[in-house]
Amino acid sequence: MAKRILITGAAGFLGSHLCDRFVNEGFHVIGMDNFITGDEINIEHLVGLPNFEFIKHDVTEFVKIEGDLHYILHFASPASPIDYLKIPIQTLKVGSLGTHNLLGLAKAKDARILIASTSEVYGDPLVHPQTEDYYGNVNTIGPRGVYDEAKRFQESITMAYHRFHGLETRIARIFNTYGPRMRLNDGRVIPAFMGQALRGENLTVFGDGSQTRSFCYVDDEVEGIYRLLFSDYVYPVNIGNPDEISILDFAKEIISMTNTDQKIIFKDLPVNDPIQRQPDITLAKKLLDWEPKIGRTEGMRITFNYFKSLPRERLYKKEHKDFSTHIKR
Ligand code: NAD
Ligand code: UDP
Repeated sequence: MAKRILITGAAGFLGSHLCDRFVNEGFHVIGMDNFITGDEINIEHLVGLPNFEFIKHDVTEFVKIEGDLHYILHFASPASPIDYLKIPIQTLKVGSLGTHNLLGLAKAKDARILIASTSEVYGDPLVHPQTEDYYGNVNTIGPRGVYDEAKRFQESITMAYHRFHGLETRIARIFNTYGPRMRLNDGRVIPAFMGQALRGENLTVFGDGSQTRSFCYVDDEVEGIYRLLFSDYVYPVNIGNPDEISILDFAKEIISMTNTDQKIIFKDLPVNDPIQRQPDITLAKKLLDWEPKIGRTEGMRITFNYFKSLPRERLYKKEHKDFSTHIKR
C-alpha cells in the first residue's frame, strides 16, 4: 500500500512541485488548496492520475481526511509580500489557525508533519549569513509582520506539539525560491523583472538596489525538503542557495540574459524590506547531505523560458497596478 501524504498549498508554486515529486515517488498524494493565491493550472497535469486527489478547502477551517494519513506538508500561505499585504488577515490565519488544524490532524492520524517556515522569521537580519540559532529581528507591527509573525507562531506551535504530544515534526526555513509556475504578476522580484522584460517595460528596482537576496532553484529546494522530511531532525533547518546578489546587480543580469534594452527605474523601498539575506546551510549539508546544484544562470534561463511560453493574456494580466500598499507604514 502506498504511503498517503497531504500537501496543503498544492495549487501554488512550491506545493505543486512537491505534489509532482511525491506522485513520482509513488506516494498517494492528497492536494489541498483554496486557490487564494494559487491556480488550478499548476496541478491540471496531475488531476486524473490514480495516485493524486484534490480537495478544495480552506485549511483555516477544520480539516477532515478519510482513512490513513502518514505525512503532511503544510505549504498553504500567501508568500509574496504584495499578496500578504493585500490579504493580511488570511495570512495570519493560515499560519496560526491553519497550522493548528493540521497539527491536530497529524496527531489524530499519527502522521509526521513538515511545515514551510521562511527566512522571514529572521526579519531584517543583524546576523549575516543567517544561521538557525539566530532569533531574528522582526517588527511585529510593520506591514510584513502579518507574515513573519504568523510563521514564527507556526514554528512555536509546531515545537509545542512535538514537545507536549510527542508529534513527529519538521521545520524547513525556506529562503527565496524561484522557478516555473510562479505567478507572473505576484509581485515577487523574479516574476516582476521577467514580466517587465517580456513586456518591454523598465525594470523596477526598489530602493537603491543594494539590498541582497540569495535565490534557490525550485528543484534544489524540493530535494532539500524531501530529505528533511525523512531525516530525524526536529529543529528548524535552512533550505536555500547561499549564492547572494544585490537586487541592482540582479536587474542588470536579467537585462543581459533577456537581451533587451530596458532601463532600470528606482521606486521607494518597501517598509522593513530586509537589507541582506543569505542562508548559512552548514546544518543542511551535514544533516541531509544536501546542497543546491543548479546555479542562477541555468535556473533563470529555465524560468525565463517558462514565462516566455505563457499565453500573452497571462503576460498582460496585471494584478498589482500600484505598489502603494507595499510602502505604507
Ligand atoms: P504560493 O502563493 O504560490 O502558494 C501558496 C498556496 O497556498 C496557494 O496555492 C494558495 O491558494 C494556498 N493557500 C493559501 N491560504 C490557504 C488556505 N487558507 N487554505 C488552503 N490553501 C491556501 O506560494 P509559494 O511560493 O508556493 O509558497 C508556499 C509555501 O512556502 C508558503 O507557506 C510560503 O510561506 C513558503 N515559502 C516560500 C518561499 C518561496 O520563495 N517561494 C520562501 C519561504 C517560504
Ligand atoms: N524588488 C524590487 N523590484 C520589484 C520587486 C521586488 O526591487 O519589482 C525587491 C524587493 O524590495 C526586495 C527583493 O526585490 O528587496 C526581493 O523581493 P521579493 O518580493 O521577491 O521577496 P522578499 O525576499 O522581499 O520576500
